[in-house]
Amino acid sequence: MTQPTPHLTHEVVNQVPPLAGYDVADDPALIQALRREAGPPAAGRENGASGESRESGLHELGVRAGSAETRELARLANEYPPVLRTHDARGHRIDEVEFHPAWHELMATAVSHGLHAAPWLDDAPGAHVTRAARFYVWTQAEAGHGCPVSMTYASVPALRHEPALASRFVPLLASRAYDPGLRVPDGKAGLLAGMAMTEKQGGSDVRANTTRAVPAGDGYLLTGHKWFCSAPMCDLFLVLAQAPEGLGCFLLPRVLPDGTRNAMRIQRLKDKLGNRSNASSEVEYDAAFAWRVGEPGRGVATIIEMVSATRLDCVLGSAAAIRQACVTAVHYAGIRRSFGATLASHPLMASVLADLVLESEAATVLVMRLAGAADRAARGDAGEAALLRLALPAAKYWVCKRTPMATAEALECLGGNGYVEESGLPRLYRDAPLNSVWEGSGNVTALDVLRALVRAPGSADVLLADIGLAAGGDRRLDAAQERLGRELKEAAAASGAESQYRARRLAALIAVTLQASLLVRHAPAAVADAFCASRVGSPDGPGGPPGAFGMLPDGLDLDPVLGRARVSVRG
Ligand SMILES: Cc1cc2nc3c(=O)[nH]c(=O)nc-3n(C[C@H](O)[C@H](O)[C@H](O)COP(=O)(O)OP(=O)(O)OC[C@H]3O[C@@H](n4cnc5c(N)ncnc54)[C@H](O)[C@@H]3O)c2cc1C
Repeated sequence: MTQPTPHLTHEVVNQVPPLAGYDVADDPALIQALRREAGPPAAGRENGASGESRESGLHELGVRAGSAETRELARLANEYPPVLRTHDARGHRIDEVEFHPAWHELMATAVSHGLHAAPWLDDAPGAHVTRAARFYVWTQAEAGHGCPVSMTYASVPALRHEPALASRFVPLLASRAYDPGLRVPDGKAGLLAGMAMTEKQGGSDVRANTTRAVPAGDGYLLTGHKWFCSAPMCDLFLVLAQAPEGLGCFLLPRVLPDGTRNAMRIQRLKDKLGNRSNASSEVEYDAAFAWRVGEPGRGVATIIEMVSATRLDCVLGSAAAIRQACVTAVHYAGIRRSFGATLASHPLMASVLADLVLESEAATVLVMRLAGAADRAARGDAGEAALLRLALPAAKYWVCKRTPMATAEALECLGGNGYVEESGLPRLYRDAPLNSVWEGSGNVTALDVLRALVRAPGSADVLLADIGLAAGGDRRLDAAQERLGRELKEAAAASGAESQYRARRLAALIAVTLQASLLVRHAPAAVADAFCASRVGSPDGPGGPPGAFGMLPDGLDLDPVLGRARVSVRG
């Protein structure tokens, strides 16, 4: 190995080696939640489809995610973002997007580990939870390529509204073969799916879509545009369009069964704040062929199932980003010294780091609880479906909102080094707001909490019962639960404008109270105590410490809290 050339002017000291060579799944909150939510493997099903056990598979992926090699792939995929090729050399439209080989390598790992649609073909209880844990781990390698992976996962419940299309395509969407390139979908070894709802005039209000769908043969011809269409190299897209029967959901293949390219033209790629490894495009359809999915005129009801699954992945991605930021900060502050001591041993820094760990652990237990609910709901558990209906938008609102703040704070723990690309934190910070914007921006998601209270009236009781499982475990939590019960009743009784105005507060209260209940039941006492003291202990309720991290109350036992984010680094 070559030795670094010594500087003639000075010796390099007190610099922290990059965090690489560790197991991202070395995460006690995640592992315990996986065991809890996935339950014991069914007899004869100890191993997943690819032969590995739940936890060993997770650790294998964790080691790969935390390796220097993967860190480099992530850098390359973002440093060399996708390029649009609209035409070939002779002027024919090709509408292809070219990616760096690093992107394909990241995608191949994600697909071969079943992070996309694989659990839909696995009838073992816990398959979706296992997939959620893996997604959480692998997205810490690089977040951008999670977009087509999540959309492929989420496409299946919507596609199942059309059994013929589902039996034709779901096995390929669930296949563990990554097979990029534009070819007839039926002949490929594996498929990816995207979705296109947002148009220029609006993304939240998709009923204002103007793309038209005209019946033709065994399908429809779509004409119009989409203002955001991510991962346009996917094989299939779920698209909303106005048909004679009303707004419908359609499945649009990039390549038609006869091998010709469908008339989906990629106009340009977006120049985005973050998420730069992933291509997000503007597209036009010029009488593009598509099959209808679900009942005519019920497009929103059909595609909403896809949206619900992608929302779970938004929370997973955000919880993972908070964890990654927090582990990086704890690692750095444990080595870097100032004023004769490690950064982490200064009381004020310990408070900042511990506060980040609390945020991270709460986000992780919450999202894994919801992954468990999604798993059980998919197997027909109505109570879990009701809990998910209310708690998922609340979690999407709250956890995604906390991510930019947490990543910014973690970045600052590295001082100036945190502001420099090589630390990895600038990419994390640029990516941080995205999960809050797409799949229902903050307000829209908070308003969906109100909708859940109206459309699924039993969901509030199910939520309170779940929170109540921690009753008596912490008096601050007991008080918060009572308050939540009152607020849920008031929200149900309030006028539209009144309850809309308060929707963010209600969503935050739901998320934080459920987090506290999960921590009181499952986390070490020091973590639960510090969380309740800082998040539910104030008479003003949740919302966390206003503004900044690192303003924890006195008298907490922080060392065991910090221990939750210490990872061991190889050699
Ligand atoms: C990188 C990226 C990739 C994307 N990829 C895709 C994709 O693949 N497919 C796709 O279909 N879309 C995609 N989107 C679009 C995304 O889903 C939309 O941007 C999002 O749904 C918001 O829609 P909009 O941009 O039209 O904002 P608007 O609907 O104009 O909303 C603007 C703001 O107003 C708020 N708002 C709206 N209505 C209300 C209300 N009634 N009360 C209070 N506040 C309200 C919203 O919360 C938001 O903050 C992508 C977006 C990004 C940034």
